[in-house]
Parts: sequence; structure tokens; C-alpha cells
Amino acid sequence: MKKILDLTLPPEIGYDENELHRYVKSILHIKDEDAFQLRLLKRSIDARSRQIKINVQAAVYIDDIPEPLFQHQISYRDVSKSATVVIVGAGPAGLFAALRLIELGIKPVILERGKDVQERRRDLADINKKNIVNPDSNYCFGEGGAGTYSDGKLYTRSKKRGDIRRILEIFVAHGASDNILYEAHPHIGTNKLPKIIRAIRDTILQYGGEIHFNTKVTDFVVDNNEIKGVVAEQSADKSAVQQQEYHGIGVILATGHSARDIFELLHQKDIRIEAKPFALGVRIEHQQSLIDAIQYKCADRGIYLPAASYSLVEQVSVGAGQKGVFSFCMCPGGFIVPSATQQNEIVVNGMSPSKRDSPFSNSGMVVAVDESDWKNFHRFGPLAAMEYQKSVEQKAWQVAGQTQVAPAQRMQDFVHQKVSASLLETSYQPGLVTVEMRDFLPENIAFCLQEGFKSFGNKMRGYLTNDAQLIGVESRTSSPVKIPRDRETFEHVATRRLFPCAEGAGYAGGIMSAAMDGERCAEQLVALYV
Ligand SMILES: Cc1cc2nc3c(=O)[nH]c(=O)nc-3n(C[C@H](O)[C@H](O)[C@H](O)COP(=O)(O)OP(=O)(O)OC[C@H]3O[C@@H](n4cnc5c(N)ncnc54)[C@H](O)[C@@H]3O)c2cc1C
Repeated sequence: MKKILDLTLPPEIGYDENELHRYVKSILHIKDEDAFQLRLLKRSIDARSRQIKINVQAAVYIDDIPEPLFQHQISYRDVSKSATVVIVGAGPAGLFAALRLIELGIKPVILERGKDVQERRRDLADINKKNIVNPDSNYCFGEGGAGTYSDGKLYTRSKKRGDIRRILEIFVAHGASDNILYEAHPHIGTNKLPKIIRAIRDTILQYGGEIHFNTKVTDFVVDNNEIKGVVAEQSADKSAVQQQEYHGIGVILATGHSARDIFELLHQKDIRIEAKPFALGVRIEHQQSLIDAIQYKCADRGIYLPAASYSLVEQVSVGAGQKGVFSFCMCPGGFIVPSATQQNEIVVNGMSPSKRDSPFSNSGMVVAVDESDWKNFHRFGPLAAMEYQKSVEQKAWQVAGQTQVAPAQRMQDFVHQKVSASLLETSYQPGLVTVEMRDFLPENIAFCLQEGFKSFGNKMRGYLTNDAQLIGVESRTSSPVKIPRDRETFEHVATRRLFPCAEGAGYAGGIMSAAMDGERCAEQLVALYV
């Protein structure tokens, strides 16, 4: 017999597997000798009242066999001798495009400028400890793209773009915990992601796909408005750079939002791109215990509840119009990391381990920027938004002292326009320097953040405090460039066989939507050209 239960439970039952089993057995009067299995289908927290509730939906099987865990049957084919598609970029989009191509019987050849997950670690250590940014291997570039050393939140609102469950199952099949299939806000954690990415690489190679690391695409081979392939530079070590052309029946361009050289190359080759709105601001770091106390309305969250998160949004009147200020990519129990892709810029982002057990909470606090913000950069044409973004990152670097030490200001001090006399402890490894954030943030952005913080302080009592600090600059929220494609076919609007994909092309934001877009690009390419 199978029974679906919808339960509202206290945390000590909802988050403890043994207790949950005991509880379900007791309410259903299941005896010890009965064959009994329980599978969670959904789990979420309701923290609106003082009495925190865990909503659980579970399937119970008594003397019955559970259905297979995976709802999707995925079978990969040997593609070693099949037609080839070139994929530029091994981020979530490139990897999921490759897996989908293999399912469809096509051989993916992935070209990735960065290193594999293991080798990449050394470059991350160099950024954190020595202030050295390798422009090809950093928190954004390398195997798994920006997704590998990310937070690994797998929540997305973009249900239209594809089958979320399918992507989650592929992650589980490659080593992610199956809790991502039922948690309302699934999260993998930065400590677990590299192993999963490596397992995806193994699948691609096992079925005959190719992955070339240290291989940076530097040119497109275009003939008569049709892309034939790409030119790439291979450089295992800097002394021996080799050039090679890669050809295929199509090219999936999945280079992410930080590949400025790719945007420049597209512009230079007259392949149409457009400036695109994005969001700009800072990261804000609080003690996790403070956020827990505010959200859970208690002094200590105890051992069952996860580190609390928040989501804040406000419209601020500025000039004749309004601008949205919102929290972005919240990382409870996490770390702030240096995510620059060039030496002369400061960019921060956030991540957290699977247990979310650091004493810090961080979140992006960003303001929507649009054409009116980059009006002084119009001479750059479709690269105007990117140049605006770059100018803020470079100014932050100058203001903070030209290393990866990041500019910071306590939150109340920022609101009252006062340079902080001292800063707080931080999770940001390269260190912080006290500055007036308005020295690099555009005036209207700083104003919106200031007003936003006041409002957030009213929404979450205790949030606006000098025991929190702003750390700059959060600027890689989404791509500042769009590579326009046909709505139906996903092919570039003017260049045949070129499939602009995911975040860098302006069609995704986050791991899940990038993965789904990768799959869709692969399907569309095959539908058109195979
Ligand atoms: C620290 C951090 C934390 C994050 N946390 C989350 C999170 O919790 N949840 C979430 O959903 N998202 C998160 N993100 C964002 C997420 O990682 C991205 O949205 C996602 O990775 C985008 O996928 P993509 O495949 O489109 O591009 P990317 O992941 O950016 O991958 C692009 C790849 O292309 C490669 N490339 C670029 N140029 C070239 C070239 N010329 N030749 C060859 N290769 C090239 C790059 O090296 C890179 O590997 C985080 C990002 C960061 C940096």
C-alpha cells in the first residue's frame, strides 16, 4: 500500500530522519514487523510565527515497493564517431548541453579556457592568499564555470525554460544528495560541487565526448553569415601556446557573463550583440546568529533548523523614476569570495558549504541598472553596459589599494555617510579596507542602497546595524550583454549555426536556468541541423 502524507511538524521531527520514521509509524499504527519505507517528496520551513513549522509531504510504502527515485530515464549513447558540435565553455550550460547532445547521439567537443576542478583550486588559493588573479582560472573560469566554487543553490523560478526535476536528477545521478529532489530550496554547497562536476566530466568522456582544458577560444570562423568553427589557443603552460581550429555542425557559445573578450570579439566580428540591463551593488555581511534571531524569532536556532536566509526587495524613488533594490544570491552560513577575472578589478560574490555552518551570513544587495546608468558609455555601443560595469569594478580596486583587499563600510556608517573607524571580522579572505563606498559606487546606486537599507531595517528589525558591513563590489549579477537569438530556434538572429547559450548570452541567471538552457540549445541545434 502507498499513502501520501502531508504533515506539519516541529523541527526536531521534520529534520530528523529517525524521529520522522518513528512519528509516521506511530500515526499510521505500523508495526515493527511490517515492511515500511518512507520517501520525502517536499520539505519546507514556515517561520512566519514563533512556533516554527516544517511542512513535509512524504510517500509511505507499507508492504509495497517504492517507484524508482528518478522520474526520467536518461540513456547516453556512444558518440565517439558521431557528428560534432563545438561547445565553448564548461559551465553548467556547456556541461548540460554536452550531456544532452550525447543522449541525442551527437559528439560534444567542449573548449574551456580554464583548468580542471582540481588544478583550479591552486589559482583560487593564489587569489585569496597572494592577490594574484589568473585571467583564465578563477572563481568564474575553469571546469564547471562559475557554478563549481559557487554556493550551489539550485532554486530557480524559470520553470518555463525546461524540466527542473530532470536537471536535479542528473545532479543526483552524478553524486548530489537526493535531498535536492524534495527541499523547497535545494542547495548542494561549495564543498560538494567539484566532485559532482568531475563525475559529469567522466560521463562525457566515457561516452566519447571531448573536453579540452586550458583552451581559450580567440576567434570565430564565419563564412557568409554562418559559423563553421572556432580558433582556440591551447596553453598548458604559458611558454607553449598552440593555435587550433575546431569545426562542427554548430557552435554552442556558453561562455558566461564574465567573458568580456568574447563580447569584444563578437562585436569586432560584427556578430550582433546588445547592451543589457543588469544589477550592481555590494555584498552585505552579518553574523549568522543575528539573521537567525531575526528570522526565527529566537536567541538560538538549535541543532535542527538550517541557517536562516532572507529575501528583501524595495522600490526606491530616484530622480523622476524608481529603481528596484533587492537581495541577491543569499548565502547563509557562508563566505564572501573574490570573483574578479582580471588583476585590476574587485568583484565579490558569495558561497556556502553544504552544512552552511560558517558564523557569517552574506547576501548581494543590488540595484537594477539600465540604459540611463550607462549613458556616459554610449560610445562603446553594445558594450556600453559592460564598460560601465568594468569602470565601477576598476574604481573599487583603485579606491581599495590595488590588490584584492576589498573596500568595506559598516552598514549604519554607510547610511550616515561616515567612513567606518574600524571594520568587523569577515569571511572574505583577502581582507578589507575601510573606505567611503560612495568613492566608487555611482551616486544613484549608493543612494538607492542607502534608502533600501533603511526600508529593510524596518522590514527586518535589527537588520540595519553597525554590526554588519558592506563589501564591494557585487557587479556580476547577470550579463551586461545580450547575444540575441531567434525565439523559436535559439539560433543567433543573424549568424547561422551559432547558438548563444545561457547566462553570457542573457538567457539564464543561475545554475539551474543555465543548465536548462544548455539542454535546450543542444536540442534546438540537433532539430535544425541533424
Ligand atoms: C561565487 C559564486 C556563487 C554563485 N552561487 C550561485 C548559486 O548558489 N546558485 C546559482 O544558481 N548560481 C550561482 N552563481 C551563478 C552561477 O554560477 C552562474 O549563473 C552559472 O554558472 C552560469 O552558467 P553558464 O554555464 O552560463 O556560465 P559560466 O558558469 O560562467 O561558465 C562559462 C564558462 O565559459 C568559459 N569561457 C569563457 N570564455 C571562454 C573562451 N574564450 N574560451 C573557452 N572557454 C571560455 C569560462 O571559463 C567558464 O568556465 C554563483 C556564481 C559565483 C561566482
